[in-house]
Amino acid sequence: DNKPANNFLYNIVAEDLAAGRVNQVVTRFPPEPNGYLHVGHAKSICLNFGLAEAFGGECNLRFDDTNPEKESPEYVASIEEDVRWLGYQWAGEVRYASNYFQQFYDWAVHLVEQGDAYVCDLNAEQAREYRGTLTEPGKNSPYRERDVAENLDLLARMKAGEFEEGSRVLRARIDMASPNMNLRDPILYRIRKVAHHQTGSEWCIYPTYDFAHGQEDAIEGITHSICTLEFEDHRPLYDWLIEHLPVPSRPRQYEFGRLNLNYTVTSKRKLKQLVDEGVVAGWDDPRMPTISGMRRRGFTPRAIRKFCEMIGVTRSDGVVDVAMLEHAIRDDLNENAPRAMCVLRPLKVVLTDYPADQVEQLAAPAHPSREDLGERALPFGRELYIDAEDFREEANKKFKRLVLGKRVRLRNAYVIEADEVVKDADGNVVEVRAHTIPGTLGNDPEDGVKPKGVIQWVSAAGGRQATVRLYDRLFTHESPDKGDNDFMTLVNPDSLQVVAGAWIEPGLAAAKPEQNFQFEREGYFVADRREHSEAAPVFNMTIGLRDTWNK
Ligand code: ATP
Ligand code: MG
Ligand code: MG
Repeated sequence: DNKPANNFLYNIVAEDLAAGRVNQVVTRFPPEPNGYLHVGHAKSICLNFGLAEAFGGECNLRFDDTNPEKESPEYVASIEEDVRWLGYQWAGEVRYASNYFQQFYDWAVHLVEQGDAYVCDLNAEQAREYRGTLTEPGKNSPYRERDVAENLDLLARMKAGEFEEGSRVLRARIDMASPNMNLRDPILYRIRKVAHHQTGSEWCIYPTYDFAHGQEDAIEGITHSICTLEFEDHRPLYDWLIEHLPVPSRPRQYEFGRLNLNYTVTSKRKLKQLVDEGVVAGWDDPRMPTISGMRRRGFTPRAIRKFCEMIGVTRSDGVVDVAMLEHAIRDDLNENAPRAMCVLRPLKVVLTDYPADQVEQLAAPAHPSREDLGERALPFGRELYIDAEDFREEANKKFKRLVLGKRVRLRNAYVIEADEVVKDADGNVVEVRAHTIPGTLGNDPEDGVKPKGVIQWVSAAGGRQATVRLYDRLFTHESPDKGDNDFMTLVNPDSLQVVAGAWIEPGLAAAKPEQNFQFEREGYFVADRREHSEAAPVFNMTIGLRDTWNK
């Protein structure tokens, strides 16, 4: 039984199927292609595709492309890629609201013929005045009583491009006194003389979200049309249109609480601003909460899906701790990512007792519990690198690493003892000279003097230099866009640190782009999807090792 623990929509679908109200569940994920998808969309994707999957139904991918001026084929392509990467496949072809533009227009004519819609000449400012307020009813437009013939003529001429943008709209004729503002003769069509990425210059009038969405659902036979809570007040209009049109099926709208994450901005418009103003390197910058950014950061589809399951689906908006998302990632990578060694602040160690031309082929398990992940080769020779922070000339007992005159174990290799240091003109230690303790491969020293700790290392023989990017949160503030906060001023100036000369163990250079690893004692890292190559390795930090999520 894989019934999700906390998902009220799952129960609704189960009841509808049990009662025979629907025979097969059909859902849809309906993004507008006006930006890249973010983590909030991941919740909607997991919900819509997940419900279809759970009940043997289908889920469509439909582009809600009714605002051509903000949309582009680049966004269309990225959205398809993101959905597939998350592991979902839509039913049949990708759909576009624009596929149905002629049908919408025919239905608009139908409404006009029934006396349920009219062409209104009020300008935007007048329309606002006539609309009233939450406490005051609106007033009827002076154009509300136009007869059917005149409305049909004007609508046809709107479509033919005879009128200026903003000079006329088509409105539903519902109720200007309704307490629900959405029912005060809402706009169905507006004039926009812009080319469309799918339909070119075929149309110069475009349907509004409200006139398009429910009808798209009806055309596609959607049974459960799931949207976020801010559309609750649109539901009466959704139903009104379905009831007043000869649509082929009867979809129903359900609302759920959107995902908000602390330290994160989830609005395409704001994310676009970060891209446009160069705060980040693009929509898929690993600091971005976009699906493509999380992908490049090294998050896995499995972990994102798990996170969406953990947060559940309820009818209230809340703020989820980003540490919970990080926990899901860490959990997944801990289980699945091979281990490797990387030295971020290299300090050279020369083993004076070790012959210069000798290289020993050591090996270590790729993972502490996953034997199926096999072994990795760790060549060992006279010169190697350790982290500068793992060495001190003098230290107290709390320092469990390498100290002059003391011993430390090189992980998966020998115990060594530090003998002397080489310094540069400024007095900085640039090299440690040490010797190995014989017989300590897998054994304690025979003389009983135990090493103080275990540190990571990379051999100069076979090891490679790499670029490693370390990331911190993109925003310093917990709620960067709440209330009066200006998210652009709350960007963390230290969210990216580039380490140019890190040393990585030999196998890491051959990593495939997007391969995940745990760099022991440092965190989880991924070979950069776009810039990593064997000749010039590049790794991105996914997340540190320490879990900060309070369950
Ligand atoms: P944005 O405000 O970021 O532009 P949107 O809702 O306008 O988001 P759409 O492309 O219309 O973006 O969204 C596609 C689907 O994803 C919609 O059904 C929408 O409700 C859902 N969605 C968008 N943001 C979230 C979120 N934060 N949490 C859950 N679902 C979301
Ligand atoms: Mg939207
Ligand atoms: Mg939007």
